Amino acid sequence: MVLQYIIQPESHRMQLKTILNHIERHKSFVYGEAQWADTNTKTVIEIPIEPRANGRPVCSKCGCKAPGYDRLSPRRFEYVPVWGITVFFVYAMRRADCRTCGVTVEQVPWCDGKHQLTTTYRWFLAGWAKRLCWQGVAEAFGTTWQNVFRSVKHAVSWGLAHRNLSGIESIGVDEVQWQRGHKYLTLVYQIDDGSKRLLWIGKDRTTKTFLRFFRMLGKERSGKLKFVCSDMWKPYLKVIAKKAAGAIHVLDRFHIMQKMNKAIDEVRAAEVKRLQADGYEPILKHSRWCLLKRRENLTSKETVKLSELLQYNLRSVRAHLQREDFQRFWEYVSPAWAGKFLDQWCTRTMRSRIEPMKKVARTLRKHRELILNWFRAKGTISSGTVEGLNNKVKLTTRKSYGFRTYEAIEIALYHNLGRLPEPEFTHRFW
Ligand SMILES: [Zn+2]
Repeated sequence: MVLQYIIQPESHRMQLKTILNHIERHKSFVYGEAQWADTNTKTVIEIPIEPRANGRPVCSKCGCKAPGYDRLSPRRFEYVPVWGITVFFVYAMRRADCRTCGVTVEQVPWCDGKHQLTTTYRWFLAGWAKRLCWQGVAEAFGTTWQNVFRSVKHAVSWGLAHRNLSGIESIGVDEVQWQRGHKYLTLVYQIDDGSKRLLWIGKDRTTKTFLRFFRMLGKERSGKLKFVCSDMWKPYLKVIAKKAAGAIHVLDRFHIMQKMNKAIDEVRAAEVKRLQADGYEPILKHSRWCLLKRRENLTSKETVKLSELLQYNLRSVRAHLQREDFQRFWEYVSPAWAGKFLDQWCTRTMRSRIEPMKKVARTLRKHRELILNWFRAKGTISSGTVEGLNNKVKLTTRKSYGFRTYEAIEIALYHNLGRLPEPEFTHRFW
């Protein structure tokens, strides 16, 4: 049966091929009449494609036109579905008798290599994969998770090959845990004003990992970096000193406060245990967020809990107050005054006899200069950037993409956070 969507008058008859010629025209090929592939169930449409008369095939090895040799049996190429109906192009590939390459299968513009999906359909799926999880895309368009994964992979490799890496001045390096256990990813972001994106991902968080980023970036571009943000992880510090010696290295606010929060958590966990062992009421139960959040962000219930807690002279509470006290540090403008405050804070904390906080103070002392670089870079690096990107990464890794492998997580992160370019299309489907 032939599908014809007729609009009067007769000269404006609209068929599927009319639409296809509008959204995806290939000058050396013509679309035939759409047909049901399954006349009974009517769930699949096939659209035959034929080469134009006298047109010669293009050799897939060298891209030159060559005389035809013979034709293979018809193949199906899946296209973007319409109205919940699967669409296939059907085409019998020609073989070209190329002068340089011998007999090769021709190259067709709607698909590359041995893929079963047309290029347009792959970009379509990849486009939706930015909005939905991969399984969701597969279900919405009646395809498989594997097809969505491969489409995103294709979009990412195209994007990485075509992205522009010039003009990068500020970068931030961060680590996130993925999977259970101590498995980390190293992430490098561009954090310039107006251009914030994920630049690179590497497995682990070793010196070797981070060196690979600089190898990718290249010597010349690395030399143009002005600011590098990081946490206090030793391998990162080492690599930055070596590979971005011309840049101001900043230990950023987010990572320093993260370290302090970890210390508070540690103090609290130990204290909960001790209080329980001593038979005290579980006053610290459900107190985690009151202690970790900044005071102005607490809910009213949490504020009540906090004032309750403050009546006890607990280590957790004192650690919390030490951190609240430290917040003032970030309000300084001059590095010299900030430095003075930092020294005083460290001295007070060293007297506190709360070991995890003392450890933080020792670390801050050790990295004093890099921390003060925060003030030297002021105005250039906004405090929320690395934190914001870090949250987005966590969201992506947590979303059910159905991935267990490193490759899948790497692709998902580049796809969602890399701001990768896409080719120009005559028609946008997504
Ligand atoms: Zn050739």
